[in-house]
Amino acid sequence: THFGYKTVNSDEKQGLVAGVFHSVAAKYDLMNDLMSAGVHRIWKRFTIEVSGVRSGQQVLDIAGGTGDLAAKFSQIVGPEGRVVLADINESMLRVGRDKLTDRGLVGNIEYAQANAEALPFPDNTFDCITIAFGLRNVTDKDKALRSMLRVLKPGGRLLVLEFSKPQNELLSKAYDAYSFNLLPAMGKLITNDADSYRYLAESIRMHPDQETLKGMMEQAGFARCEFHNMTGGVVALHKGIKP
Ligand code: SAM
Repeated sequence: THFGYKTVNSDEKQGLVAGVFHSVAAKYDLMNDLMSAGVHRIWKRFTIEVSGVRSGQQVLDIAGGTGDLAAKFSQIVGPEGRVVLADINESMLRVGRDKLTDRGLVGNIEYAQANAEALPFPDNTFDCITIAFGLRNVTDKDKALRSMLRVLKPGGRLLVLEFSKPQNELLSKAYDAYSFNLLPAMGKLITNDADSYRYLAESIRMHPDQETLKGMMEQAGFARCEFHNMTGGVVALHKGIKP
């Protein structure tokens, strides 16, 4: 297979994304730590801080995968709160559910196999929605943003943690070299699957940059949209509020 998905249609893209995550699910956490040298933990910790989530609140983690954010939120919201870990991919969801259950995180956490483009929740349900390293995999991002807006409570916030555009030329070059060469090689070594990691590099390059994503959030109806660059813009955290 090859993942030159610039030319594939949206059904095909969804199929490719599904294949990638079925393939990487078992080694996903290990690869995250290796590929980012553990820095993804810092990006996620910052996301939790910015979320302002408090005890008793309702949180939806979309494309939640193996549950890093959901695990933290489950501890923060406590027994009166509720966390929903949603992901389109049953393999990722299973790995996440097993991991969190093994850690004793039960009672306030639910799992939903759901597409970000059509969230199966009532209007005005959540205080906070997060989507970490997920939006770039979604075929119709505008539709997904509108769906998120719908299920947020007024005053609720959306946080999008995603790869973005490195802010200087040198970093940008180094990063391209890393993601198009070293990353697939590491993927091959550890998961025997270079294609999935080639897809990853492609999907990062194709993803809208900081200002474009901010504009998309405003267009979808979010208010007070802003973003914060991390690691020189390799990653950005976007925030928007439901009016
Ligand atoms: N949020 C986790 C993290 O930060 O480690 C997992 C991120 S993982 C790179 C991307 C996840 O997005 C995968 O688990 C994949 O199944 C999920 N995904 C892809 N397309 C999706 C969609 N349309 N709706 C919901 N989840 C989707």
